[in-house]
Amino acid sequence: MPRSVTGPEIERLIQLLAKLPGLGPRSARRAALHLVRKKDELLAPLAKAMAVAVDAVVVCSTCGNIDTSDPCTICADPRRDASTIIVVEDVADLWALDRAGTYKGLFHVLGGVLSALEGVGPEDLNIARLAARAGAGEVREVILALSATVDGQTTAHYIGERLAGMDIAVTRLAHGVPVGGELDYLDDGTLAAALKARRPV
Ligand SMILES: [Zn+2]
Repeated sequence: MPRSVTGPEIERLIQLLAKLPGLGPRSARRAALHLVRKKDELLAPLAKAMAVAVDAVVVCSTCGNIDTSDPCTICADPRRDASTIIVVEDVADLWALDRAGTYKGLFHVLGGVLSALEGVGPEDLNIARLAARAGAGEVREVILALSATVDGQTTAHYIGERLAGMDIAVTRLAHGVPVGGELDYLDDGTLAAALKARRPV
């Protein structure tokens, strides 16, 4: 164990920053140093923003999105086309698809995919709520934006079966698009193209 050069408060900050995606111990140290150097301009406002976020963050009981209101900003937006729902595994996928800007419908976040290996069954995912939304009358199309893995495809198949007989088109994004938390790495044009080139499950 190397001897620490900072007090426990800064050491704790470094340890927590190192848990962020994309930050290893080295970059966490660099970020922590930057924060403590810019105590008034950055560290204090960041701490305040985080405290506010802790109190405000909720999971939308309609779609499973993470936001500061329930229903979330997307579900509550009357300009959205309520006849279409894109089903994603993760909130990161929702943010990526929405960022692409071409889609004006609603979303549904599953919270993962079915996995026999990891013991994830339909009841562990936000699927019953999806079926309820799809069956409520307004929905015409459900677009599955799930990963091209075996588990992703099993999940797509399961949802297709679950929604069968509802008079709803169930489609999926064009093949070759990595999803499941990875949509964020795609540029907006690729996302828009994958959305446009969707086809029946
Ligand atoms: Zn929502």
